[in-house]
Amino acid sequence: MKLSQLAFKPLSTAPANADTINHQLLVQAGFVRQLMAGVYTYSPLGLRTLNKIRNIVRSEMNAVGGQEILMPSLHPSANWKTTGGWDSIDVLFKLESRTGKDYALGQSHEEIVTPLAKEFIRSYRDLPLALYQIHWKFRDELRAKSGILRGREFEMKDMYSFHENQADFDRFYQEVKDAYLRIYKRLGLVAKVTEASGGNFTKKVSYEFMVLTDAGEDDIYYCDNCDFCVNSEIAKQHVGDDCPHCGKSVLQAAKASEVGNVFDLGQKYSKDFEVTYTDRNGQKAYPIMGCYGIGTTRIMGVIVEKLHDDKGILWPESVAPFKAQLISLRGGETAAAELYQTLLNAGVEVLWDDRDLTPGAKFAAADLIGNPIRLVVSAKTGDKVEWKARSSEPTELLTPTEIVARLTKN
Ligand code: ATP
Ligand code: MG
Repeated sequence: MKLSQLAFKPLSTAPANADTINHQLLVQAGFVRQLMAGVYTYSPLGLRTLNKIRNIVRSEMNAVGGQEILMPSLHPSANWKTTGGWDSIDVLFKLESRTGKDYALGQSHEEIVTPLAKEFIRSYRDLPLALYQIHWKFRDELRAKSGILRGREFEMKDMYSFHENQADFDRFYQEVKDAYLRIYKRLGLVAKVTEASGGNFTKKVSYEFMVLTDAGEDDIYYCDNCDFCVNSEIAKQHVGDDCPHCGKSVLQAAKASEVGNVFDLGQKYSKDFEVTYTDRNGQKAYPIMGCYGIGTTRIMGVIVEKLHDDKGILWPESVAPFKAQLISLRGGETAAAELYQTLLNAGVEVLWDDRDLTPGAKFAAADLIGNPIRLVVSAKTGDKVEWKARSSEPTELLTPTEIVARLTKN
């Protein structure tokens, strides 16, 4: 893609109302635009990154046997009244139609997926079953802040599983936990796993996946010697206590952002919606359910909070909008056009800054956007191309053939 033709170009200054790095850099670099507090448009650059995050999440959910579906956002109030959520969930957006009917906007989808599952869960042979979607959620959050970390409209991967018994649920729960850790790793993040009390309707244990960042809203205690981590809200421990797991270090406090969680829902929803199946003894039984969320848009913001410097974003290659940003300077236009075409033919994702701007402005734009590799072609580079990684200073002069070979290596 040519930068001259890109909608939403990098801006020379950050937005005045940005309270966090992700808000500041994502708007300035041209990834998002704020419509109002907690509601954002994703630009061509932003959508490329979001699509890569979605696809990493999707591949790992498919790998644990999840089947992707897409459920509606507009819900009849009856489903929410059945579970009690209509009156008890403070973030639920409620609307009334012009004929006086009540609706809710989906803040989560247990109320929709559970009655759906009635159609295909008849016998123990139909279990286990895991359905997921990657879709927008609407929540009347009191304070939508921190850029895309807390939205009133935000995207989530939400998966729901149905099981014959607790043992099968426990097996799947562990598989999803492992899949989540693989997802965060592929996204360039290190997530700590806390054990937390469950959601609204269950006292069962759940896991929360936390990334340490001052932009986050959760307070956690963790050990820097082992994996131990708890949410301070529920912790029996205090800062400075010996780690209860390894005993080799003391607990430290940190701010963190929750990038996902897994919950044991028990039989709450299957009972509410009378979802039953015939078990191995021919008896009627209620399946045990789990739910598994990952905040895909929040993750995009958390990556920026973790991976940036004073010049801009440092996207991991797995989610960078483009692999390389090609800069043509005076005298390098023809060579740049040739290299651009060669890279496109080789299937390399390349953003060509073909604008008539000063070298300084183009270098600044490349650092701000944060694609992993910067390529420069100018009168000075002759028949070579200057190669530089966004994350390090040294430059190298390579032939176009060497450039293509490096960029198509894996
Ligand atoms: P939080 O404690 O941050 O409000 P939650 O416990 O309400 O999160 P869930 O309802 O389980 O979260 O949603 C699953 C995931 O969706 C969360 O782990 C988080 O990554 C993301 N998420 C939740 N609320 C928001 C929001 N308002 N904006 C962006 N992402 C969110
Ligand atoms: Mg919440």
